[in-house]
Amino acid sequence: MNEIIIGVDLGTTNSEVAIVEEGKVKIITDNDKKMLPSFVGRDDTGKVIVGETARNQYLVYPERTVKSIKRLMGQNVQVNLADQTYTPQEISAIILKKLKEIAENYLQQPVSKAVITVPAYFSDAQRQATREAGEIAGLDVVRMINEPTAAALVYDAEQTEPKHIVVFDLGGGTFDVSVATIESGVVEILSSHGDNQLGGDDFDQQIINFLLEYLKTNDQVDASCNSKAMARLTRAAENAKLTLSDQPYAQINEEYLLEKDGVAIHLSLELSRVEYEQMIDDYINSMMDTVHIALKGAKLKASEINEIILVGGSTRTPCIRTRLFNEFGFEPHGEIDADLCVAMGAAIQAAMINGQQVDTVLVDVTPYTYGTSAIGQLEGSDYPFVFTPIINKNSVLPSKKTEAFTTNYHGQAFVDISIYQGENLDALNNVKIGEFRVEGLQDVKAGNVIILTLELDLNGVLHVSASEKSTGMEKSITIKNAFSSVENRKLESAKQRITSLFGKLDSTLYEQDDEPFVAPEIDSARQLIAKAEGLFDHISKEDKEDMTDLIKTITKYAEIDNIDGLENPVAQLKDIIYYLES
Ligand code: AMP
Repeated sequence: MNEIIIGVDLGTTNSEVAIVEEGKVKIITDNDKKMLPSFVGRDDTGKVIVGETARNQYLVYPERTVKSIKRLMGQNVQVNLADQTYTPQEISAIILKKLKEIAENYLQQPVSKAVITVPAYFSDAQRQATREAGEIAGLDVVRMINEPTAAALVYDAEQTEPKHIVVFDLGGGTFDVSVATIESGVVEILSSHGDNQLGGDDFDQQIINFLLEYLKTNDQVDASCNSKAMARLTRAAENAKLTLSDQPYAQINEEYLLEKDGVAIHLSLELSRVEYEQMIDDYINSMMDTVHIALKGAKLKASEINEIILVGGSTRTPCIRTRLFNEFGFEPHGEIDADLCVAMGAAIQAAMINGQQVDTVLVDVTPYTYGTSAIGQLEGSDYPFVFTPIINKNSVLPSKKTEAFTTNYHGQAFVDISIYQGENLDALNNVKIGEFRVEGLQDVKAGNVIILTLELDLNGVLHVSASEKSTGMEKSITIKNAFSSVENRKLESAKQRITSLFGKLDSTLYEQDDEPFVAPEIDSARQLIAKAEGLFDHISKEDKEDMTDLIKTITKYAEIDNIDGLENPVAQLKDIIYYLES
């Protein structure tokens, strides 16, 4: 076999090395870690340190540590590290040398060739500097490929139909959007636009600013001049951000953060996702502007895009996925670890150069979106059943996500929670797969927070729990077979109808609290009837008569479990309600 060529993602925040082994793409780990933080330092004995150790040292000895060197590649500058100066190429070479060593340890053979990825917007000078970094590290850079090209190769190397794709890449310090076509493993970048000074670090900075303000107001201290306190705040801010990607609240606790007049200051507060999303809203808006510019550059409309690929750790921020979904009307791909996708693509390119066979990269993902309904706005009007996705289609399994909801009126003693499978903005058009009630809520004003957690495992078992935030009181259900398709559910409900005729109700699909099975279509129809009746006091006699006739028909079909018969009158009733509400 030819000498192995490694694939390298030389990132601003983290770097990774991958290879193709027996047809499979493999990220090579170092001490079980897949990512090497792109930090280089000198320890107190003068020894060069790279990765996690250097990253930890940065918190206390920033003067002896270098981070984000990628931002300086191609510039004629020198960086200080302890008492010496280095070029950006030399610092990058230290990271590359470490990755080479990690690969050699794994392969137990020398490595001298690499495919290295660079951002699509990198200039010739930046690319040349990257090549030089490879040479200094003892690596012959056999090819340099654009990061979006690498990402596209992971998803679509075998694709024969031409496709238009958008690669949305948001890392720690850089952001770029590329529009490309892919056909039979050949990726052509049509346009690329971005900001190489924007990324997850800026999101962290927003939280840091908020914490500094908080300390000023609450404790009358300015922590910004204390480097140790700032290092701790930086770490706490990033951790809170990561938590808020999966949960609606993050607790920030930093004891003995600093001292004021001999008194210890402890920082303790809760940050909500809603507050955090407001802090980064301007950044998200500007990112969506970038998407539009990139589309314009490629002379394509959003409707002509077939796929969106997410790259970079910061794309796990939920509101980014939501905004992309709203813009394009479909879920972006995120099934292959957004942090590792580029290195994997580099390895695929390396294998292609080497004539190696590569299998498609497959991971377990959810085939559907799961969520609940809440009062909100649909097509400009208030609507009680707006679908709120919690676990999105294509999420890697197992997946656990939490969202916060609030009660609607004062003294609300219970909430009814319905869980739906589907993607329609109107929850009633999705398939209801479970429901339960949380009772005995505290007698408080509207706005009582209810935390809803969905946990989906590899076998399609969906565990749903809801708790009152202030008391921790919890209720949960388990829904088996959440992967069952809409068609299967219809079949299952038909099977149950027939079985029940024989007096045996086999309810394996919806196993929750032993409640009798109700087909989701019938349940949705009942909710629709309730909604229609709620409008009776405010509509004309004619409309009321029309609706009453339809309700009678729906009720008749629902009573005999005739789901096909329901379809037409339900659609007509929905139309009337829509007309009346708009
Ligand atoms: P990368 O440059 O692709 O390694 O991305 C690193 C950035 O992704 C850092 O700013 C991380 O804080 C951010 N990041 C990683 N995981 C998450 C997450 N779950 N939610 C939000 N940001 C994340």
